[in-house]
Formats: sequence, C-alpha cells, structure tokens
Amino acid sequence: MRKPLVAGNWKMNGSSASSKLLLDGILAQAKTFPSIDVALFPPAVYLPQVQQAMQHSHIRWGTQNVSSYHKGAYTGEISATMLHDFNCNYVLIGHSERRCLYAELDLDQLVLDRIIAEKYHMAITEGLTPIVCIGESPEEHAVGKTEDVIGRHLDILIEHQGVKALSQAVLAYEPVWAIGTGRTASPEWAQEVHSFMRERVAKHDPVIAQSLRILYGGSVKGNNAAPLFSQPDIDGGLIGGASLDADEFVKICQAAQAKI
Ligand code: PEP
Repeated sequence: MRKPLVAGNWKMNGSSASSKLLLDGILAQAKTFPSIDVALFPPAVYLPQVQQAMQHSHIRWGTQNVSSYHKGAYTGEISATMLHDFNCNYVLIGHSERRCLYAELDLDQLVLDRIIAEKYHMAITEGLTPIVCIGESPEEHAVGKTEDVIGRHLDILIEHQGVKALSQAVLAYEPVWAIGTGRTASPEWAQEVHSFMRERVAKHDPVIAQSLRILYGGSVKGNNAAPLFSQPDIDGGLIGGASLDADEFVKICQAAQAKI
C-alpha cells in the first residue's frame, strides 16, 4: 500500500501574518490525518517560519523550485544544499508555471527537459524527495496528445537518471488546463493517465512502478478530493489554491486519510 501524500503549493502568496494563521489552522487539525504524508511549499522566504511551526508535527516542507547548480554566481537561485540546511524533505520540480512563465519557455524543449533532470539529480543527491510535475497543455489535450506528452517526459527523466532514481521520487500528473482554472480532471480521466504513467515506468522496473507515488494536481478542492483519491493509481494530490485555506486544505488531507 502506497502512503498517500498531500502537498500544498502556496505559489507566491501570503505574508508572515497570513502564513501564521494558515499554519496554526492546519496544525490544530493535524491529528485528523495522522497516517498520511503532508508537505507544504511556501515561498522560500517563509521556509524558516514553516520549519519552526511544523518541526514537532508529522507535516514536512519544501520549496517550489531548486537550482540545477551547486553554488556560485547564480543570482536569485537556491541550491539543494541550502534546502537541506532548512531540513526540507521535498522539492517541486518542473511545475508548469515555471516551465511556461519563465525563460524556460524560450528554451528548446530538450534543453528544458535536461535542466529539469539536472534539478532532479541535485535534489536526490541532497536527500530531498523531488516531486516532478508533468502534464499536457490545453492545446495538447484538445488534440489527444496527453499520452505522447506524458510518455516523453517520463522517458527523458528515466533516460537521464536511470529508473532506479524514481524510487526516491514522487510524480505529479498536473494537466495544465486544470491548474487554477476550476476545471478539475474527472476521476476516471485522471486514473487512466496515472495508470498509463505507472505502466510506462513498469516497462523499466515493475517493482519501482508499484511503489511509486503519483499525485494528481489541478483544481483539487475539499469537495472533489475524495472521488479522485479513491482511484487505485491516485496516491494523493498537489494542491495550489485550496492549500491557502486551512479548513479546505485539511478537508483534502482528510480525504487522503480516508483512502487508508
Ligand atoms: C498547482 O499549483 O500545482 C495546482 C494544482 O494549482 P490549483 O490547485 O490551484 O489548480
């Protein structure tokens, strides 16, 4: 049985005052989801605050990005070693907002895939669990290219890192058309894609494929999490907007707890 994981991506939201309220609200209800893994991804400046608040709970933390370099003249970047310094357990890699909104858009797709694979390597070298985000764009979705896109991302990751490295990772299926749009994938659709992902990994290593956690992300809320999480290949969620509201986020965590 894979342990469900619920990850809250705060994106670029909050202040120290609002983060305190959010953290207090989640912590106060943490006993209602005791057997799942939960991780919070605040903006990096609030990491020490999250670390301080959650250190004695089962809730962990990480960042929304990591540099593909060790150290040096890379202004604005944060290395995996620095994340380790703040006892981070996880890091998000390849979130579609980074793939699409930053210089990453101008890069040749192969260069982008290589950078993502390098970030992944940095994360596992420092003992962090990378949560690798993969998903098709609205255009790709409209012309039925989902499996081509997802398959290509997985193949590149496996080619660069070797399938064994996936035993230290989590995958997140995040269809870009569902992120922040209120248009959640149906449980059946998400299950089909998750099952495709697991089978693709199983071609290289069936044991790793069986133990690999695959999260669904894209407009998950308290009222739609349970049917998604009840699918056999959906092992939890990567939550954006709804992770900014303690009660909503807790409801999602409770839906994951109910899977156990
Ligand atoms: C995300 O940021 O990864 C995400 C899934 O956002 P939302 O839940 O708001 O769609």
